[in-house]
Amino acid sequence: MIEVENLTHRYGERLALRNVSFEVKAGEIFGLLGPNGGGKSTLFRILSTMMVPTEGKITLAGYDVVREAAAVRRQVGVVFQTQSLDKALTVEENLRAQGHLHGLSGAVLRERMGAAMERLGLLDRRKDLVETLSGGLKRRVEIAKALLHRPRVLLMDEASTGLDPAARLDVSRHVELLREQDGVTILLTTHILEEAGRCDRLVLLHEGRMVAEGSPKQLRERIGGDVVVLEAADSPALAAGIQEKFGLAAHAQNGAVRVEIPNGHRFIAEVVEAFPGAIESVGLHKPTLEDVFVKETGASIE
Ligand code: ADP
Ligand code: MG
Repeated sequence: MIEVENLTHRYGERLALRNVSFEVKAGEIFGLLGPNGGGKSTLFRILSTMMVPTEGKITLAGYDVVREAAAVRRQVGVVFQTQSLDKALTVEENLRAQGHLHGLSGAVLRERMGAAMERLGLLDRRKDLVETLSGGLKRRVEIAKALLHRPRVLLMDEASTGLDPAARLDVSRHVELLREQDGVTILLTTHILEEAGRCDRLVLLHEGRMVAEGSPKQLRERIGGDVVVLEAADSPALAAGIQEKFGLAAHAQNGAVRVEIPNGHRFIAEVVEAFPGAIESVGLHKPTLEDVFVKETGASIE
């Protein structure tokens, strides 16, 4: 449904995307995960035809996003990071105004509004002023608004930023419903690991580069075994010591050292013995997407 080939983007001298290529299949929920400055919004702006890339090519539903921008716009619904609702209007009034922008009116518009509100669970809030809605409900109105022209693809830039975990989960569930019931393809950007973990597939973006691609499960399986986290007063020294003594890659970060290792519990016993007094606390967990990111980049996402 979306093919991104060798995409590069520069803002003047600054390189925001470097040779990014990936494919989103029809009906997928696809995530771009990365820390601030990773290039997510840049890619989002190019996909939504707001900006022309410096180099590379994207097709969406078979249309070229640069040469056939008008056709692409008919196929995509766009939810921006900053809110775009008029708070002094009701849910329904916001949707009607958007429908008029798409040239919809009368019975067709009423039917589209009803369908979008139903899908997002907004029918009983239709007469409420947007300013009275919770953050999660407002996001759902934004999504309903993006769907009025019945796009096949929904693009969302950090749609769950600023929401609490319960509201994020609620938005994710509605997005899943859209995919299930209407077959909408979804591409979202996020820096929230838990939200990324609910996508079918992900691309990890760091400083404009793709550092990994796959399902959350495939990505976590890149790390064999366990992740051991050791807190130490001098974490760089401990990391160096572990590399020397055990021949393991150890990352020092924020006062702690991370080591990936099968049978982490055995390693813990050995490392505590090998560096008496140096380790202040010990933790062991199964690999997370954060661990994958740290492994690939040495940096942290959140
Ligand atoms: P993200 O959305 O992942 O935080 P962005 O795509 O916003 O990343 O930014 C990627 C890089 O491009 C950053 O280094 C950012 O400072 C830079 N950048 C983003 N927008 C602009 C702009 N309009 N002009 C110049 N540089 C920009
Ligand atoms: Mg952004």
